[in-house]
Amino acid sequence: MGDNENLVEDISGKIKTGEIQPWKAESVLLEEYEASAPEHFRTAALSRRKCIEELSGFKFNYLELPEKPYLMQWRCPKDNSIWHLEARDTDTVCTNCSSALEPFGTDVDRFRPLVNNYIGGREEYYSYAGQVKVFGDIDKTFTNLLAYGPGFGSIGISVGCFRINKLGGAEVKVGKWAGAARNLGYVFECEEEREKAVAVAKEFLPVLRKEMEEKYLAEFNGGIYEVEFVRRQHHGQFYIYICFYTRFEHARGHGDTSSAVGYARGRMDAEFTEKGVAYIQSLIAMGFDGDLKQSPRNRRGRYVSAQVKVPIPAYEKMSKTGIDKLLSYMEIDRQGVMQEQGGFVYSGMGGEIIPALYRGTKVNPRPYNVSCTENVYVEIKGEDVIFGVELPNLEVGATSNREGPICPTAREVLKFIGIGTSKEFAAAAAAITLAGEFNFALLHLRGEMYVGK
Ligand SMILES: [Zn+2]
Repeated sequence: MGDNENLVEDISGKIKTGEIQPWKAESVLLEEYEASAPEHFRTAALSRRKCIEELSGFKFNYLELPEKPYLMQWRCPKDNSIWHLEARDTDTVCTNCSSALEPFGTDVDRFRPLVNNYIGGREEYYSYAGQVKVFGDIDKTFTNLLAYGPGFGSIGISVGCFRINKLGGAEVKVGKWAGAARNLGYVFECEEEREKAVAVAKEFLPVLRKEMEEKYLAEFNGGIYEVEFVRRQHHGQFYIYICFYTRFEHARGHGDTSSAVGYARGRMDAEFTEKGVAYIQSLIAMGFDGDLKQSPRNRRGRYVSAQVKVPIPAYEKMSKTGIDKLLSYMEIDRQGVMQEQGGFVYSGMGGEIIPALYRGTKVNPRPYNVSCTENVYVEIKGEDVIFGVELPNLEVGATSNREGPICPTAREVLKFIGIGTSKEFAAAAAAITLAGEFNFALLHLRGEMYVGK
């Protein structure tokens, strides 16, 4: 390939021992090795890849590293706007005013990294975001490969991971089951008819549940753990929601649950007709089951939490401030979120970190973040401060199946990270989110976030 193998060997070795921070590889190559731009971007990415291969024991087969992995700067001669385009991009027209862009900068400083800590990928730019050790329900060290995008997020996660590892790692708790839900809706003309329907449905339920489980849920050891009846009214129409809640130990179960409830609708309609219950309409009423809607009451997904324990004096040293400042930092955000959104739910940094993992691994659900919420919590226990995040409804299935096939690149990324099961995915998601939040909280407390220059 002509890539400077000795250089890659040298830099990757120093990244591995911690002598070079992975995100500094580019500047070290320019400043200390007299490498030339823009070739140094590829050398730096190769060095990080080699380091990751050695840490994990796997080889990259699918995650491609392009020949020219960097951005080029362009300038519009008419409005002076500066543009960053990937080097292979030949569409060099200003999207402000349609003028032809001109090269901007000298031969050395015209180039910019695709993303921080870039390691490969064409459609998604993957970053290396350090390793994080977890213990508790999962014992493992994850090697984080994320499609975070531009910005410093992947560096923040790396730094957070480094801190958490030094503190002994993150303790994780992972829910035994992943939940799914699908809802049947019926519309009636009067309340009497609705009550009759509820009585018939409840009597029919044991038979129906068994059929649904055997026909649709048994394949992945799923079961129905709850059926909820809720009455609502709109003007002169009377509704019932009959919501079926299912759970699976190793699958997502969303598609199977939908099929089972579709089947249940046909069976229930027939039962109502046979028992003389007159309904105006029967339907799968998805508004109630929370399908793909971000909400603290979301009925889908798996609970996972990750927390780190820090002696209070150590935290005060790290944050360069008193522990009370951490508590009021948490409270001002908690009130902000509660008053603005109506629930104690954060999706701030997590709203970027969780999609970075979903995008990188392509694990279902396809819309990356919609059904997952995040809580950040801080507790004082004796001499220690506990800093944690919980993801109450993180959705993930098996890491490639009928419900969500995954491309080979993403499967390879999963393997490198160390994720083989949906529980490991959950643990990694929580630990990576914790690392990001932990580091960001420290930066906020030190007054180092979004500092104007
Ligand atoms: Zn322009």
